[in-house]
Amino acid sequence: MTDATRTTESPNPPQAPTPRRGPRHAQHAHARASAVALTLALTVTLIVALAAGCDGARPALERPHVLLLTVDTLRADHLGAYGYERATSPNFDRFAQDGLRFQRAYANAPETCPSFGSLLTGYLPHETQVTTNLVYLPDAVETLAEMLEAEGYVTAAFVSNFVLRAETKFDQGFEVYDDTMTELETNREMPERTARATADAAIAWLEEADPDEPFFLWVHFQDPHGPYTPPDDHATRFDDDGRGTSRTLAVNPTVSGHGGIPAYQKLGDHTDAAHYVARYDAEIRYFDEQLGRLLEATDRRVGLDRAFTVFTSDHGEGMGEHDYWFAHGENVYAGVLHVPLVIHGATHDGRVRGGASPVAVQLLDIVPTVRDAVGLEPLDGLRGQSLLDAELAEAPIFTETRRYRSLIRGRLGLTLDRKLGQSYLFDLAADPGQTREIGRGQPAVVEDFLADLERLENEDRLRVSAVVPEINARAIDQLRKLGYVDPESTPDDESGGSDNGSDEGTR
Ligand SMILES: [Zn+2]
Repeated sequence: MTDATRTTESPNPPQAPTPRRGPRHAQHAHARASAVALTLALTVTLIVALAAGCDGARPALERPHVLLLTVDTLRADHLGAYGYERATSPNFDRFAQDGLRFQRAYANAPETCPSFGSLLTGYLPHETQVTTNLVYLPDAVETLAEMLEAEGYVTAAFVSNFVLRAETKFDQGFEVYDDTMTELETNREMPERTARATADAAIAWLEEADPDEPFFLWVHFQDPHGPYTPPDDHATRFDDDGRGTSRTLAVNPTVSGHGGIPAYQKLGDHTDAAHYVARYDAEIRYFDEQLGRLLEATDRRVGLDRAFTVFTSDHGEGMGEHDYWFAHGENVYAGVLHVPLVIHGATHDGRVRGGASPVAVQLLDIVPTVRDAVGLEPLDGLRGQSLLDAELAEAPIFTETRRYRSLIRGRLGLTLDRKLGQSYLFDLAADPGQTREIGRGQPAVVEDFLADLERLENEDRLRVSAVVPEINARAIDQLRKLGYVDPESTPDDESGGSDNGSDEGTR
């Protein structure tokens, strides 16, 4: 269905935003909102049930609540709804059953801040300038929260990853930005908030929220991110179930996951890969229990069918593919890019979809999708597409780190190692593990991919400058120990990382 057939413009002027409760960033949000002249498309209600598998019409709501649920470092293929053999995710599976699940969703960066920069703005990392975890989100970039705040939404976020703390400007557009992290990770002295505390805080906010006033609530869970230390009552759940391949690994002296266990991930004397996978899975199960509580509270307070919910992750985690273990950020293979993505619930015009989509989509698509769901016009220049469209395009999916590029088009994916000047083409459908390079036999296809890559990486639709943080050496060191500093930038990493002329490790 095209936009033209989906919505009908009303001659009425855009609806005035409802009063806000002391927005933190109201001024710049309003200025930007007027600058880009957002219009709220008042639509003729059109209830259409799309796609097989939907379970009947959902309510058409002029402005549904928006719930963005994200989980750090969560591989799609470790969830039941994506075919995993362990019972890691009963609550997610039930939720996914009732929504539209994207089988092939990819992150635009395999690292937290660059990935969220794209997810929350709809632009590529090199456009937002957030290409590492040490670059603050520029004020000039309009975020999803700012878009919704300008339309009268009450906005609140509960984040649990240190690199998303308010200081890094991911709080733009949020009236409430709760980055309380009073816990320290077991294996490293890093503030974090575990899933129970995260869910508690979000649920407490929901209990106070006015169900009749539309809100945008972002809740980010941190738990599957290493070190894999779920609470005691969950820790050993999958230890002895006979699943997983036993293999003894080296422990790396650095945060790198190449060829062994990153230093900060080491758990006691354990060197068996299967032990780490079991603990990672136990983290997911622990998170899932809290997801169940949050979904229940949302349903009780506002009704899940009165909210448009997006569930996803910022990136995956290496689980031994290409001898890369329990880390992310250092390559662009599918293990670190393939994430779960489910959309669920109400839209402004009552469209619902269910089932599973095989089309390759990306986190860039979330901003246009949410805009569509709440009835905002498509934004000129914005990348991505609305995932509510019945006929999704096979858009090129571009992913970047400082050293690597990836481009996925349909079933084919090309990775480019810029340092070595080498590219590798894979058939992702026949060879999801990316073990058989097929580019040598088809140079014309490779050339075409490389031309597309070059075009995308040279496009800059935003032209903003980043605010580079004044971050002190101790904090840098702390972040590096935690695996948060871009491994490509660490001096002891042979991969270098000076290819873009910056070395954020010294700032
Ligand atoms: Zn992350």
